[in-house]
Amino acid sequence: MEEENKPLIIIECPHCHVQVIPTADNLCPSCREDIYNKQDINSRQVVLMVQESEKLPPYCYSCSAPTDRYVRTSADEESGLETLIFGEKSPESTSNVIVYLPECELCSDSEIELVEVDYENQTMKIMVDIRFQERVLQFRES
Ligand SMILES: [Zn+2]
Ligand SMILES: [Zn+2]
Repeated sequence: MEEENKPLIIIECPHCHVQVIPTADNLCPSCREDIYNKQDINSRQVVLMVQESEKLPPYCYSCSAPTDRYVRTSADEESGLETLIFGEKSPESTSNVIVYLPECELCSDSEIELVEVDYENQTMKIMVDIRFQERVLQFRES
């Protein structure tokens, strides 16, 4: 193996932020991600479906850092069309979907990426960090 002649470099893995010496294939020994491929960092965003007023764990939806800051996220349906079709609605079943999303201060400038809103079931789908999704799934089970 010629690999031994390579100079050892310690870099911060862009994926797991651990100081590592990349493997011969330029993989992070800690998380096995490609050290030089920063492209897929955004692809670690996944779609999460949340119910209106669902309690979410105190971690930033966008970077998974612990936070106790919650932002009100609402999706409004513009027309009153649904009310006309489905008739009367109870006062609680408003057409807008409101979710209190944990978001750390660092991420407060970034836009929440809304994928889809289901007014009938009062749910919304948003893009979240994959680690946040894991925490939410654990949180729901507990
Ligand atoms: Zn890593
Ligand atoms: Zn954050």
